[in-house]
Amino acid sequence: MVRREERKHAMKPTKFLLPEDRIPKAWYNINADLPVPLPPPLNPGTGQPIGPADLAPLFPMGLILQEVSQEREVEIPEPVREAYSMYRPSPLFRAHRLEAALGTTARIYYKYEGVSPAGSHKPNTAIPQAWVNKQEGVKRLATETGAGQWGTSLALAGAIFGLEVKVYMVRASYDQKPYRRALIETYGAEVVASPSPTTNYGRSVLAADPKNPGSLGIAISEAVEDAATRDDTKYALGSVLNHVLMHQTVIGIEAMEQMAMAGDKPDILVGCTGGGSNFAGLTFPFIGQKLRGEADYRIIAVEPAAAPSLTRGVYRYDFGDTGQMTPLVKMHTLGHDFLPDPIHAGGLRYHGMAAQVSLLKDQGIIEARAVHQKRTFEAGVQFARTEGILPAPEPTHAISVVIDEALKAKEEGTSPVILFNLCGHGHFDLGAYERYLQGTLEDYDLPQEKIRVALEGVPNL
Ligand SMILES: *Cc1c(COP(=O)(O)O)cnc(C)c1O
Repeated sequence: MVRREERKHAMKPTKFLLPEDRIPKAWYNINADLPVPLPPPLNPGTGQPIGPADLAPLFPMGLILQEVSQEREVEIPEPVREAYSMYRPSPLFRAHRLEAALGTTARIYYKYEGVSPAGSHKPNTAIPQAWVNKQEGVKRLATETGAGQWGTSLALAGAIFGLEVKVYMVRASYDQKPYRRALIETYGAEVVASPSPTTNYGRSVLAADPKNPGSLGIAISEAVEDAATRDDTKYALGSVLNHVLMHQTVIGIEAMEQMAMAGDKPDILVGCTGGGSNFAGLTFPFIGQKLRGEADYRIIAVEPAAAPSLTRGVYRYDFGDTGQMTPLVKMHTLGHDFLPDPIHAGGLRYHGMAAQVSLLKDQGIIEARAVHQKRTFEAGVQFARTEGILPAPEPTHAISVVIDEALKAKEEGTSPVILFNLCGHGHFDLGAYERYLQGTLEDYDLPQEKIRVALEGVPNL
């Protein structure tokens, strides 16, 4: 009697947790499985492929070798695994409450990266980047930050391994997010608003327009100049590059094991894309299986309608920054001069996309969708009211598509398993939620003309 009663009330598991010794021992490198080789980055002066030596002023050799590695598995150094243990393995959740609210027949799971001290997936790469720099005798790192997540994460990694960090923070965000700034400083890093008077490039931008609100492209140019002009300093990038995406694959490797614990296999994987790193982190280990013919998945990248590089950009060689200081990379781009309109509240404002993600899109291995911001905040609020976690504005893009797919499944009477990456919490983004709840957050349609003009600046290669 009691037993049957107990079974009736047996809780369906909500969290799937791995012990610390299941922190992955190797990252997954998708270069080993790509259907065609990744087009090489080019020297903007000569148009020739760049070699490791060209990158040496900016990056430590250990990371350059990871950037060009073709090995399927790259070992994670033990001190990095130790630092990962501050928050890894991260939990996998089954979204029972969201499923019930939607009345869907789909089963929804999410990997939650907001448990890191910085509140997002970004420490997954900040920690190994800082460690490799430290090993090679680097004293100081320069970087940019947009929404503030990356600056926070690199500041944290600098504190862990004893490196100085200077953060060029996009002016608009510096003014709007004083608490992100304070957290970066609490971790011991120096932060300035970009464009800043501390670099030649920043001074040139300010001379032309003293009120320039800044952009990721401008901040990257400043951080690159800082690193290139100081012997003790290297540059660190929080997304886009191959080695950054590879570091993030701890997310997908853990998720694969946790899905097996749950006794399920995903049919659809969803991630939001700014530069592509959290999306790659969750999906690349699964895409590897797909590329090797071991499994099949639908993979959906979700971007903001205000910065739609995958859905409305071109697949061409372009600069990673506004000042044209970086190598040329073949990627989906809106043009390195593209500036999203300031009414767009979320992160995900970069003009380009990671080369590996771009190639997968070009090859038809992944799908992409663009979503307007009011819809994403609506999905974020529904998620918070059911699952309890306040998502960062970026993953609300993924959540909106997960909800669409779950409702479609209900209509069609199918029961797909959907897995998405909840790549950060939104505790520093309540200003944007407040605007959404007050009804003052706007949607607009990005005019084709604006994209056409920005694309005029893309080199003819
Ligand atoms: C930085 C960031 C993003 C965008 O960068 P990706 O490289 O595309 O992941 C998305 N979500 C959160 C929470 C971030 O911090």
